[in-house]
Amino acid sequence: FNMKVSVVPWLLRAALLAAVLAPGRPLAVSSVGSEVRLLATPPSALAPVLASQSRAQRVWKTIAEGLDPFGMDMPQELGREAAKLLREAFPLEAARGELCTGVDAAVGDVAADGTTKILVHLQDGLMAETVLIPTDSRTTICVSSQVGCARACAFCSTGAMGLIRSLDAHEILGQLFAGMQEAQRRELPPLTNVVFMGMGEPADNLEQVHLAARTMVEGFRLGNSHISVSTVGPSPEAIEALESLPTRLAWSVHAAEDDVRRVLVPTTRHSMVELRDAFARVLARRRDRGLFVEVALVEGLNDSPHHALALAELLRPLPGKTRVNLLPYNPFAPEASDLPRAQAHALFRTPSPETVKTFQDVLYSEGFVCTVRSTRGADSASACGQLANRASLSQSRRPSKEVPPAASS
Ligand code: SF4
Repeated sequence: FNMKVSVVPWLLRAALLAAVLAPGRPLAVSSVGSEVRLLATPPSALAPVLASQSRAQRVWKTIAEGLDPFGMDMPQELGREAAKLLREAFPLEAARGELCTGVDAAVGDVAADGTTKILVHLQDGLMAETVLIPTDSRTTICVSSQVGCARACAFCSTGAMGLIRSLDAHEILGQLFAGMQEAQRRELPPLTNVVFMGMGEPADNLEQVHLAARTMVEGFRLGNSHISVSTVGPSPEAIEALESLPTRLAWSVHAAEDDVRRVLVPTTRHSMVELRDAFARVLARRRDRGLFVEVALVEGLNDSPHHALALAELLRPLPGKTRVNLLPYNPFAPEASDLPRAQAHALFRTPSPETVKTFQDVLYSEGFVCTVRSTRGADSASACGQLANRASLSQSRRPSKEVPPAASS
């Protein structure tokens, strides 16, 4: 294999382009225009660069085990030619002698149930968060796709920050890599599941989320059905764009009635029927097994049997098996200067367990699988809607220059 050094990075970029682009998808500019990282180069993109599928698989087997190929004796472990080509293709990482994950992870609070918040320091000084959720048999990681979020959900502490910036694929995958290493260090059950339910709206950063999800499947060898991308569904167009994700889809519905939905997700610009119909088309084309649906229940706002019946009516036309997950509201404390949110927060209460049970029973009787998410990690502020700590919230004072693609819809 006789390739000039200067050609290798371009070959890598071309291979990455071919791997990332699906028919009809726009160019993933931020991935191919900037320095390419090994962590965001799935095996199918790495193979042409290493001139061998098996070399690419060997490199990825190492990473999927939580090991850093640049931190080991590469000629010994991967073979001399593969090591040489890898160094040429990723000069920054070769010079540093380690994978560039783009994140510096620090373990934060560990809740009584083992749920662990990991603070993710990014290279530009910003911070995101990720959460490890161990159970008896497996560990799930909840990753962030953005710092802050433009969707401004009234019950969400990340929404209080506004959007600061989107994460690159290697920064999303860096959270997974750090989570795997932490799970191994603490001898937690294997990390097999990923949910995109941390900070940010994945549909507003779809190119990078798509590359990250694809790499999780191809490189980290996680099952497609073990990865779930959760979205508020900013617009019918944004929902249709989720079709090619190699993951399960989850819709944060929160309310079936348009007026109630706009209280909870103030950036909603479309009726719930329009959004539901877009999901129905996507699920039918994907031949999906069904949609996960999330509902943050707030006392007196969307938690009555009447609301549950309206939700059942909204969801009934969806193809496949729809599973509803109820999330009783997790209180958080907005900054006093954020008056509208502070006022909303003052009005929001967690519904009683009896109210939640009644809501669940209505959905059961309407034929839906319906679970109630325990507020795991609530004592360490790791529960849903709480992924913004004091340091993160202070980031919101920086102006956002980014307009998410779906924001104008
Ligand atoms: S709930 Fe999700 S979409 Fe809504 S503001 Fe929070 S992070 Fe964004």
